[in-house]
Amino acid sequence: MSYRRPAIPSAVERELRQEAGFGCVRCGHPYLEYHHIVPWHEEPHFRPADMVAVCGNCHGFFETQGRDRQYGFKASAKNMRDGEVKGKLEYDKRDIVFRVGGNWFENTPTIIQFRDVPLISCRLRDDQALVSMNLFNQYGRLVLQVKESEVTFRIGDMWDFECRRNVAIARSGPREIAMKLDFSEPDAKIEGRLWAGGQQILLHPEHTNLAGGTIRNCRMRNGRVGIQIG
Ligand SMILES: [Zn+2]
Repeated sequence: MSYRRPAIPSAVERELRQEAGFGCVRCGHPYLEYHHIVPWHEEPHFRPADMVAVCGNCHGFFETQGRDRQYGFKASAKNMRDGEVKGKLEYDKRDIVFRVGGNWFENTPTIIQFRDVPLISCRLRDDQALVSMNLFNQYGRLVLQVKESEVTFRIGDMWDFECRRNVAIARSGPREIAMKLDFSEPDAKIEGRLWAGGQQILLHPEHTNLAGGTIRNCRMRNGRVGIQIG
C-alpha cells in the first residue's frame, strides 16, 4: 500500500507566511517551506499553531532544535521584528523581453514611466535580467519597491507575499494582486495594479487598462520608454 502525505492547504501556508512577515522566521528569506514543529509522523495535522514558515537553508536547523526554541522563533519572526520585508527575487531570465499587462516589451529598458519616475524597468547584467518596480498607492506613497530584483516593503502594506521558483506575487488584499512576476515560462509575465498621479493602471494578464482605455497586443521593441504617462 502506498501512502502520500496530502499537500498543505494554501490557506494554512498563507497564514504561516502572514504570521512570519512573509519570510523565514529565522533569517527573513522570502522563499519558504512549511515545517511541522509537531512532526507529521507523531500526529498528522496542518495546524498553523504547530507549524512554522522557514527557508530551505534554515529548515535543517529547525529539525535539530527543541520545540521550545522552534516556538520561540515562530513567536518573534525576523521580518516582524524588522517591520519590513527585504529579499532578492530568484529567477533565471537571460533577456529583457517581457509581457507586461498583455503587451510585449522587447529590449525597452523603461517599460512604464510616470513623468520622470520609472514604474517598471529592466536591464541586463552578467547575462541576467534585473527588474525594477516602484508601486505607489493611490495617495502617491511608495508601498513596494523592487530595485534590480531586490524587493522591499513594509509588512503592513501587503496582505500576502509569496515567492516560488521563478514566480513572485504580492497581494494587497484577498484577490487583489499588487504585483505578479511569473518567469516560469518563456513568456515572462508581469501583472499588477499601479498608481500614477492618482490614476490607476491595471496590468491584466491579457491587457492593460489605463486612463479609461485598453491597450492589448502591442509590441514595443528597442525603444527607450514603452508607455509614458504624464
Ligand atoms: Zn532562513
